[in-house]
Amino acid sequence: MDTIDQKRRSENMRRIHSTDTAPELAVRRLLYGLGYRYRLHRKELPGRPDLVFASRRKVILVHGCFWHAHACKDGHPPKTNQVYWSAKLARNVERDARNQSALLSLGWECLVIWECQIRAPALGLQKTLVTFLEGRGATSSDR
Ligand SMILES: [Zn+2]
Repeated sequence: MDTIDQKRRSENMRRIHSTDTAPELAVRRLLYGLGYRYRLHRKELPGRPDLVFASRRKVILVHGCFWHAHACKDGHPPKTNQVYWSAKLARNVERDARNQSALLSLGWECLVIWECQIRAPALGLQKTLVTFLEGRGATSSDR
């Protein structure tokens, strides 16, 4: 293994468990500006969801396209070390699915916001967030 791989690997280990990523901060800033208040990373909930709206019983999960293997142009594993990356990213996807179904079974509605949605025009994102938080019953995820 060369040093670039080692660097990427430790970067991976750090980022996959990290909080306060740039996309997450962007969503938090937007919602805060709209007057929403939320708790962050509640440990007692499955997967420590990024944003928790307790009185609405809703959570928002902000996913990086690469680390959570989104079906978009940023979601593909690298060409090198394919075995390692495929296994790694597949585990992440499994964990996401497990956490989301655990949240749903506890009565929490989940909205997944992808990193690439945040880069898209902000009004679209704002509408998605508000529709989710104000709406009743529908769970939105584009996976
Ligand atoms: Zn994406």
